[in-house]
Amino acid sequence: MPYTAAMHRIVQVALPTPLPKLFDYLLPQQTPMPALGVRVSVPFSGRRLIGFVAGFTPSPDLDPAKLKPIHAVLETTPLMPPDLWQLLQFAARYYHRSLGDVLTSAVPRGMRASKAVQVRVEKDAPYVLKTSGVARTYEQAQILAQLALGPLRASACAPELRKALLQLAKRGVVERPPAQALAQSANPSVAPALNAEQAAAVAAIVCAFGAPNKAMLLQGVTGSGKTEVYLAAAHAALARGQSVLVLVPEIGLTPQTLQRFQSRLHARFAVMHSALSDGERANFWQAARAGQIDVLLGTRSAVFAPMQNLGLIVVDEEHDSSYKQFDGFRYSARDLALKRASDLGIPIVLGSATPSLESLHMVQLGRLQRLWLHQRARAQNMPAIQLIDIKMQQMDQGLSKAALNAIRETLLAGSQALIMRNRRGFAPRLSCQHCGHVVQCPGCERPMTVHRAARALRCHYCDRQERVPSACPQCRSDALHAMGEGTERISELISQHFAEWPVHRIDRDTTSRKGSFDHLLAQVAAGGPCILIGTQMLAKGHDLPNIALVVVVGADDGLFAVDFRASERLAQLLMQVAGRAGRAETPGRVLIQTQQPEHPLLQKILRQDYEEISVALMQERRITELPPFTRMAILRADCKDFSMLQTWLKSAAQRAKILLQHAHSKNAVLVYGPMPASMAKRAHRHHAQLVLCAPTRAPLHALLAELTVQLELEKKPADIHYALDVDPYDD
Ligand SMILES: [Zn+2]
Ligand SMILES: [Zn+2]
Repeated sequence: MPYTAAMHRIVQVALPTPLPKLFDYLLPQQTPMPALGVRVSVPFSGRRLIGFVAGFTPSPDLDPAKLKPIHAVLETTPLMPPDLWQLLQFAARYYHRSLGDVLTSAVPRGMRASKAVQVRVEKDAPYVLKTSGVARTYEQAQILAQLALGPLRASACAPELRKALLQLAKRGVVERPPAQALAQSANPSVAPALNAEQAAAVAAIVCAFGAPNKAMLLQGVTGSGKTEVYLAAAHAALARGQSVLVLVPEIGLTPQTLQRFQSRLHARFAVMHSALSDGERANFWQAARAGQIDVLLGTRSAVFAPMQNLGLIVVDEEHDSSYKQFDGFRYSARDLALKRASDLGIPIVLGSATPSLESLHMVQLGRLQRLWLHQRARAQNMPAIQLIDIKMQQMDQGLSKAALNAIRETLLAGSQALIMRNRRGFAPRLSCQHCGHVVQCPGCERPMTVHRAARALRCHYCDRQERVPSACPQCRSDALHAMGEGTERISELISQHFAEWPVHRIDRDTTSRKGSFDHLLAQVAAGGPCILIGTQMLAKGHDLPNIALVVVVGADDGLFAVDFRASERLAQLLMQVAGRAGRAETPGRVLIQTQQPEHPLLQKILRQDYEEISVALMQERRITELPPFTRMAILRADCKDFSMLQTWLKSAAQRAKILLQHAHSKNAVLVYGPMPASMAKRAHRHHAQLVLCAPTRAPLHALLAELTVQLELEKKPADIHYALDVDPYDD
């Protein structure tokens, strides 16, 4: 039968391909018109793909007779509420990524399959009260009375009551939320009295529920009680019948934060992070979509949770680089959270002791309202910070005498000590004393790290592993020495020195088992004197109240790194670590070992005034025209063949310059490169990049929009991989 205009029911579908366009498909006659955002299954170059309905058109790109029909419409209600749909459309435009890719990466993997998603409820999942229903029988009244005290499993009911429970479920009075999505606290504990600053911060957030200016930066030193402010704000949102989204930087922090929230708020909680199974994530998605979750705690990707009636967003430790996705769809969860809150017109609180320069810049521009918490909540003193000049010190395996003495004093006083070294393994280099050769990873051209217990050399960039050679590969001498100290070596030394005390090493090598990190932290938090040795995993907001001393080893690495954010990150890290010291009754002490005690950044850290540090860093960025004073994007590319990579990047740069000549604001965007990436070689692939900068967003994004389309449609050598990184971070 020939197609006629009246019969054209053409649907535009966003598909998970890099092509920055929508694809037209015909809707079969008998199929009702799907809503925007509904998933459909379609044929695509010999395969079946799942895409999202993103529009309708009367005039398709192709002759309608050539269009293929949709295989199936997978649901009637879209997976995403309107505000999330809007956010993801924005994200695709802002990060210059195909809408299909963005939508697909936002939904849990379990929902990318073609079958319709079923909410799986655990067999004997507990029931909770959904609405205040009236009991129609004596048995139902008994059930309702029990449910008022907390969740109830069918298996826990007397047989004669079970029927009543099922009747209530049928009437919709009770429900079974998917596993973990409940965790209701029956008797929340009472909030402690807030100090004046906390109370003022809470008042500002509560006022923002009805005000136009709603984005806030809560800046307070570690221990100043930011969480109490979040709790009070969340309480206010819940009281308004709204839900709350809380983002935390890493999985390790979620159980701790969850516990804190659960003990205080009467609400239905869920936790979303990357360690969940696909099924669990899909369940939470459904529960959130159905409005069954009041408070959602999660890491980066939780910014895409389909919360109903969202009333408040909290981004804790907003400066943390883990909010940035470093591969695939490279987004910033903090920035998208700000956008989501602004679209919804709801308050958002970014919290940090050491805010990012981006956020401080927004404070200066008046886009973020700053709320201060200057005092530590429990009247403690700030820890004393001291620099140890290791040029003047006798050293033992990377630790100075002064540090060892301080550790001993701390243990004898009954407290705990933490040694922070941001390098795992035994030693960062294996080098020949005879010819000076350093064993490198052939794929990355960086020194391999010695792991003694595993008797292996490992590359921390590509995970290559090999046996430790017995002789120098260059001169056959056997004078191979492990140079420098990683956490493994330091913990060996410490175990010898302090044999009578427990020593715990905490890094990716020792805590890879699920839950082992939390278990160890709980043990340490509750326990007596011991020594913790770890990487920056330990610097984040874990509550370790008995730590009275922090020793920082190898801080100098951060003073001379190439990344323009290195100083900012080092300052944030050191301030955070210092915040670990002396949170309870014991006043804290921090020792930073350095060869550069006169370095201006360390001098400022000594004064523990992040405000002073950030003002100086901001000044540097302004002079060097770096973010946040300029808008930046990086076109990253990699290839096995170096000259092919250079040629491709050069032609991309040329293309950008031609586009700029036709643009209104010719010189608004600067294009630098090709230049090597900070890791110029990784796993046998060369990495290089173009850096694009502009003083304002508009001309840069106008260029990127055209450039990405051209690059995607252009033929390129198959081995070249590339990605655009908007507002880039070095990982
Ligand atoms: Zn040699
Ligand atoms: Zn490698």
